[in-house]
Amino acid sequence: MRSVSVLGATGSVGESAFDLLMRAGGAQAFRTVALTGGANVARLAEMARALRAEIAVTAWPEKLAELRALLAGSGIACAAGAEAVAEAAARPADWTLSAIVGAAGLPPGLAVLNRGGTLALANKETLVAAGPLVMGRARRTGARILPVDSEHSAIFQALQGEDLESVEHVTITASGGAFRDWPLERLAQASVAEASRHPNWAMGQRITIDSASMFNKALEVIEAHEFFGLGSERIRVLVHPQSIIHAMVTHRDGGSIAHLGAPDMRHAIGYALNWPARAELPVPKLDLAALGSLSFAAPDEARWPALRLAREAMQAGGAAGAVLNAAKEQALDDFIAGHIRFTDMAPAVERALEQAAREAGFAQSPGDLDAVLAWDGFGRRAAAQGRGAA
Ligand code: NDP
Ligand code: MG
Repeated sequence: MRSVSVLGATGSVGESAFDLLMRAGGAQAFRTVALTGGANVARLAEMARALRAEIAVTAWPEKLAELRALLAGSGIACAAGAEAVAEAAARPADWTLSAIVGAAGLPPGLAVLNRGGTLALANKETLVAAGPLVMGRARRTGARILPVDSEHSAIFQALQGEDLESVEHVTITASGGAFRDWPLERLAQASVAEASRHPNWAMGQRITIDSASMFNKALEVIEAHEFFGLGSERIRVLVHPQSIIHAMVTHRDGGSIAHLGAPDMRHAIGYALNWPARAELPVPKLDLAALGSLSFAAPDEARWPALRLAREAMQAGGAAGAVLNAAKEQALDDFIAGHIRFTDMAPAVERALEQAAREAGFAQSPGDLDAVLAWDGFGRRAAAQGRGAA
């Protein structure tokens, strides 16, 4: 029987994965090793009971007593804290999904790679903050990373049977998020509630706001750069409001292979779960005649400065990805908390990148987890310091 673990099971991607596992036979079809979550221990306990997990782990130590009470009599072990999440990830399983949000996903992701496991990666921050370390670790241990971010899954699928050498560039599409059509001068007044509504995808709040600011696309461009080893000039972003084409690979001979599908994460998760095979998935099939037309536009960098910052970070290399990601997480926290405006996020990230370049330089890519975490702390402090100036 195949064994699986889901890190971040109680989130948006985690719920989609749970749905797929249950539909595919649940505890009859899979041996679930570990499920992890955060604050929502009630849902974590429900999932752990449904899949008869060996262990359920909450990232929050203060939630352990509640989780233990919820699992009483089930025979399911429980634990709490960031280290316990990484230990759960280290337990052998054939397939481990990382659907934690933020840089907190990095230590457990590395724990999967350290044991040479298969890591289905939704947590893009793992690659943005520590791409060279993560890819190097996977090569050394023979671990496999399967992309779950929909655009990267799309590129990965379009590349099956192709030679990366023949690729001229890849194109990642972006819906444009909540504010695609807003007048630029209104953006400074955008509220957290307005930024948390996505036109096409149902996702966690943080990635939804990142879609409105295009920081999500900025992270994805860096993710593609690290995962596929493509230079920044070979990765393009295209605004595509309908979110039907997820990505496109353009070969040197002029042929482009696009990946199309309904905006439903169960496709990308299911593809990674069944790879290299394909299985029936509960995803709506496209009816292009009903859709009628698809539209495209070049991204407006005045509206979405995050895209320029991603390019600059890729050109700087070294620790710039770790700083960009951490500064973005801090700026997003500050926006959600009401400390800064929507339009203050990109300048906060830019200041952090400039400060890091000035004070420390980016020469070396962080070689271990401690080095990444040190840069992560630097990025958060630099973004928070700028708060007063915003
Ligand atoms: P959610 O916020 O919905 O879920 C995050 C999950 O991680 C929850 O299980 C949450 O627990 C847990 N969690 C939160 N903080 C921590 C922490 N510090 N340590 C350990 N676990 C934690 O996020 P999404 O599902 O939207 O996104 C997950 C990842 O997938 C992100 O990296 C995102 O960028 C990426 N992604 C998401 C897509 C989507 O459609 N949502 C699409 C493509 C990529 P709890 O809720 O119990 O507190
Ligand atoms: Mg994506």
